[in-house]
Amino acid sequence: MDGNVDVKRGERVVRPPPSPGEGSRLGDWETAYARYREDPEGFWAAVAGELEWFRPWDRVREWRHPYARWFVNGALNITHNCLDRHASGDHRNKVALIWRGEEEGDEQVLTYRQLHREVMRFANALKNLGVGKGDTVCIYMPLVPEQIVAMLACARIGAVHSIVFGGFGASALHARIRDAKAKIIVTADVGYRRGKRVALKTIVDEAVVNAPSVERIIVLRRTRPELELYSELEVDYEECMAAADAFCPPEVMDAEDPLFILYTSGTTGTPKGIVHTCGGYMVGAYYTSQYVFDMRENDVYWCTADPGWITGHSYIVYGPLAAGATVLITETVPDHPDPGVWWRIIEDFGVTIFYTAPTAIRMFMKFGEEWPKRSSLDSLRLIGSVGEPLNPEAFEWYYRVIGGSACPVLDTWWQTETGMHMITTLAGEPMKPGFAGRPIPGVAADVVDREGNPVQPGVGGLLVITEPWPAMMRAVHNNDERYRQYWTTVNGYYTAGDLAVKDEDGYIMVLGRADDIIIVAGHNLGTAEVESALVSHEAVAEAAVIGIPDALKGQAVKAFVILRLGHAPSEKLKSDLVYHVRMSIGPIAMPSAIEFVESLPKTRSGKIMRRVLKAQEMGIDPGDISTLEE
Ligand code: ATP
Ligand code: MG
Repeated sequence: MDGNVDVKRGERVVRPPPSPGEGSRLGDWETAYARYREDPEGFWAAVAGELEWFRPWDRVREWRHPYARWFVNGALNITHNCLDRHASGDHRNKVALIWRGEEEGDEQVLTYRQLHREVMRFANALKNLGVGKGDTVCIYMPLVPEQIVAMLACARIGAVHSIVFGGFGASALHARIRDAKAKIIVTADVGYRRGKRVALKTIVDEAVVNAPSVERIIVLRRTRPELELYSELEVDYEECMAAADAFCPPEVMDAEDPLFILYTSGTTGTPKGIVHTCGGYMVGAYYTSQYVFDMRENDVYWCTADPGWITGHSYIVYGPLAAGATVLITETVPDHPDPGVWWRIIEDFGVTIFYTAPTAIRMFMKFGEEWPKRSSLDSLRLIGSVGEPLNPEAFEWYYRVIGGSACPVLDTWWQTETGMHMITTLAGEPMKPGFAGRPIPGVAADVVDREGNPVQPGVGGLLVITEPWPAMMRAVHNNDERYRQYWTTVNGYYTAGDLAVKDEDGYIMVLGRADDIIIVAGHNLGTAEVESALVSHEAVAEAAVIGIPDALKGQAVKAFVILRLGHAPSEKLKSDLVYHVRMSIGPIAMPSAIEFVESLPKTRSGKIMRRVLKAQEMGIDPGDISTLEE
């Protein structure tokens, strides 16, 4: 990587007011990071010691490149830490989960004690159906409390869950059921989306054809009259709950026993089945929830992801519950019945920590400030982002309009594979729009060239993690070669597959996917830089760029642009945008073509799939598009 990037561009340091009291409880970054570097194992042992173990570990870490074991011979159950630990003490009546349906007033609240009981009961229900330690259960549900109950019930008995986002179609579900050899499927008759029913069970019916591993399908029936269950295979959720015992002791799990399989978003290619284990994952998810989100006793925490993504696994379910938080979940989409619904939810429930994705932020920017202005967002004290680069324009808007210029914005960089936050600023630390931040204490990240040499500040390179960490994936399901690739491509480091650049302070800016890099006249351009430049134009809501062949320059930039409401496409606007990019980055990045579009191809988790645009442009096969949003 030799592309120079002007890091000074758009750089502006924002020091937000620290969160109540003293800022992050990790202390300032320098001190906490030095503490980690001096004694990485001691650092992680101290974190793990904040949780309860059935048997202490012998060694914190065993690293036989590229295979790691953490908390070797330690025994635990993650649900003991997420539930029993709170439900048996003075937190038993604290609210664990608040669910808000599509309709206002459609709510459900579960205390830690109640959630604990539901989970134990469903764990017994699974046992009654013959599910045991090591079996795989596929969960394909809408965002309802039962989805989370099902996840935790699997973890309770040592079954491996594989959650498939409820927005996926039959073929994607089928492929995941087969790959993971799921024995049981937990589903619902319907999910609700924009006031309409989505018939999940019908999709399951199609997906289980030719999936011989499946022995039973548990169906949560939400509609009345109840959906009829036909075959012997199918059982009713409520019935198996009613028949099950209320007490289920946690299975004693080895730290390295698998906890779940989860498929990646498929932004750059065929989704990979990422395997996480019980001990290290628990420690990483807990640590980051507690200390990056700086979780406090009275927080009401809302992460807008679905448990079907890693963000939901780590930051709706396992992390926040291990930290004893009150977690809000909702089946609502951001723009139905109108684009004010999420802001009303924040006001109604007094949400204090809000975690969403750049795709949502850019959508709200498109609708305009008047929507959030109708609600009081004063309860918020910390706001976060994940999934794609948070371009400076979106950062500013999020900071100012949603955070009221008073909340730290945490731009968290991490992946399904990493299991936990890796790079972000901490509450109270200076933030730089466009930069995710520095690696958090506990994580060793760097930007390097293809040989693994750290690049100079301002020079683009590959984002790598140079040391193992507890929540790292342990395997790619059925594909050890792919697993090894992550750790063997660059100098024995973990290669994330993203391009990045560091500045003098060690802050890291993610430039885009290594797969999407555009090479113009020998210069490497990250997609994020050009897209950020476009989005900083007042007429642009969202943009995606790709490289197209160019006889002279090797590649040229083509941009796809969605306009903000109130702006119309025109040739004049096209040349304005080209000029705008030229002024923001330089002539090298000037798009040679701009196309105005109504929408962009995205994964169902909301990420732009540039490879689909590219395939369309070139008239070639786009590859695996099972995760493409309809
Ligand atoms: P696939 O690996 O199948 O192509 P994916 O990489 O989109 O899919 P995820 O694990 O859901 O699957 O996403 C991780 C990726 O998302 C990161 O590698 C990075 O490209 C992007 N990402 C996540 N958070 C951030 C962030 N804060 N800033 C920039 N990019 C981010
Ligand atoms: Mg990826």
